[in-house]
Amino acid sequence: MQREPILNQLFIRACSRAAIYAARADLKPIVYQGMQPGGQLTSTTEVDNFPGYPDGVQGPEMMMDMQRQAERFGTDMRWGVVTEVDFSRRPFRIVADETKTIMAETVIIATGATAKYMGLESETKYMGHGVSACATCDGFFFRGKDMAVVGGGDTACEEASYLSKLGRKVYMIVRRDELRASKAMQNRVKNTPNIEILWNHVTHEVLGDGKVVTGAILENVKTGEKHTIDVEGFFVAIGHKPNTELFEGVIHMHDNGYIKTKRGTTETNIQGIFAAGDVQDHVYRQAVTAAGTGCMAAMEAERFLALES
Ligand code: NAP
Repeated sequence: MQREPILNQLFIRACSRAAIYAARADLKPIVYQGMQPGGQLTSTTEVDNFPGYPDGVQGPEMMMDMQRQAERFGTDMRWGVVTEVDFSRRPFRIVADETKTIMAETVIIATGATAKYMGLESETKYMGHGVSACATCDGFFFRGKDMAVVGGGDTACEEASYLSKLGRKVYMIVRRDELRASKAMQNRVKNTPNIEILWNHVTHEVLGDGKVVTGAILENVKTGEKHTIDVEGFFVAIGHKPNTELFEGVIHMHDNGYIKTKRGTTETNIQGIFAAGDVQDHVYRQAVTAAGTGCMAAMEAERFLALES
């Protein structure tokens, strides 16, 4: 039986920070890295608002740094996905990859969130063939081409800004007449000559030749008019949903699926189970706040174990 916190993570910014603190407290934490080791920041570009990087840093590089730091203090990073949990009694039972069972005295859930799609049939049809939710993963394929980004938040602005350096022209398809993004990101996209913002527009259909994307039919929500844009890359950046399916009916959640934590803590409704990062934060959702709650979770787990022994 292990008396260590298990960290199942998709969102390493919370998780690595939790692991660094847990490892430095000599708890020998195990981290299950999930489907996307490194989490969402591995599919982002430049992060310029994380303290300590005055010139900005590439998301994947920052995640590698955090992982190395966690490993330096003895974190056991494991490939694999947690497929089952039994939190009904302690020690808690965690099954990874449907076969490996681990018993743990505490668990920190840091499974993060996943990109949302619009739900159009044509969007699904061309997924991976021009439709993507990750500019850094797929932008390269559309060098010199015209592309579109759906959304008006920070993610959409970041993606559009990144793609504008690769492509000829980038359309931002924004469903309202304003952006939700931070002022700095708004200014960046508004001042980029090859980004055109199409205000009050939604996507009616993604067009293709049967194999790859060739364009999209857009609708102006004010006038009802439809028109076509010719693009080869179609990026969807309209937000995220928390990765909490595994914990449904087990851990208390808000209506939107984010895990409920006690105010000012990372404690869930089950003693010994903590939640950190985007899986429990639908308000701030920043790299630095996720890292902060990762630190809190590790300290609370350590205190919990100390009180028990
Ligand atoms: P978000 O802030 O929720 O923005 C989603 C955008 O997509 C909004 O403009 C929304 O429009 C639009 N949208 C939603 N559903 C749509 C649909 N079906 N069709 C068309 N448009 C749709 O999501 P986000 O940009 O992913 O950002 C999430 C959080 O992460 C934010 O708190 C953001 O600040 C943070 N973030 C931080 C960093 C960083 O730390 N560097 C980077 C990226 C993001 P409406 O505005 O009309 O709702």
